[in-house]
Amino acid sequence: MSRERVLITGAAGFLGSHLCDKFIKEGYHVIGMDNLVTGDLRNIEHLMKLEQFEFYHHDVSKFVHVPGDIKYILHFASPASPIDYLKIPIQTLKVSSLGTHNILGLARAKKARVLVASTSEVYGDPLVHPQTEDYWGNVNPVGPRGCYDEAKRFMEAITMAYHNVHHIETRIVRIFNTYGPRMRLNDGRVLPAFIGQALRGEDLTMFGDGSQTRSFCYVDDLVEGIYRLLLSNYHLPVNIGNPSEITIKEFGDEILKLTGANQKLISLPLPADDPKQRKPDITKAKEILGWEPKVSRAEGLKITYAYFKSLPNEELFKTEHRQFS
Ligand code: UDP
Repeated sequence: MSRERVLITGAAGFLGSHLCDKFIKEGYHVIGMDNLVTGDLRNIEHLMKLEQFEFYHHDVSKFVHVPGDIKYILHFASPASPIDYLKIPIQTLKVSSLGTHNILGLARAKKARVLVASTSEVYGDPLVHPQTEDYWGNVNPVGPRGCYDEAKRFMEAITMAYHNVHHIETRIVRIFNTYGPRMRLNDGRVLPAFIGQALRGEDLTMFGDGSQTRSFCYVDDLVEGIYRLLLSNYHLPVNIGNPSEITIKEFGDEILKLTGANQKLISLPLPADDPKQRKPDITKAKEILGWEPKVSRAEGLKITYAYFKSLPNEELFKTEHRQFS
């Protein structure tokens, strides 16, 4: 049987690997691509033996060649945590600018539909709350997050240009904070940071007074939203995220309760340009895709905690990328 072929960039990353699973499950042939700078082959190890899956070790910022037909392309390659942007800002800029250009060129050549992974970071430190898709954002181009935020804004702009000029089918998802199994334990993001610290018996490093808010979406919900957006006929940006908003301090308390850890939250300086509030308005996703998140934070955190707990000890205590070790 010949299956429809899907290219997923960033396939060895957190979101990319879950998307690979989803498209395999839906009966597609999946071509995963990753340069493994922040991705990890262990995330897709279970797919390697399948004949419906193939893997290209390639940097999408360089010319991309894939033989044969492609029906859909999902462009998910990019570092995605503030620690990564600080460490590799140039790759971060390149993958969403040059990389997106290559992907759009490939989509044009293959007559493929392409979905690009944008982010709530396009809203910067938002002055509109909750964030609707028609808000243009409040971004500092020269701050520590500028390399990510501006690259993703460029990604949206060039995607619209290819849609308008070359009439290719494009989809843009704006992804809000997402969590679940396969997040990198030491990527500096708040959830793996807090759970890792709880498991190691360290105090939890809350940045600032913890009054800043985030809204956390479980990965399975996000993947379903992305799948529906890809198959829809809507080409403007759509927020996908969970609107259940919480302060970082409350979130830390939830992690302490969940893990039964005896430690406390300690306050460290707030990083520059850290958004004070973030919550998606998902009216569009509800209306256009019939989508809304189903997994509560309590359920999602339980599954995610079980995943981190199951990691080998040497993983848990690896100091690389840990900011305060
Ligand atoms: N944060 C924190 N302690 C940590 C890591 C992050 O208090 O060890 C805070 C961070 O300052 C931000 C929030 O948690 O306000 C979410 O940070 P993350 O890096 O996960 O994502 P983003 O800022 O991109 O939403």
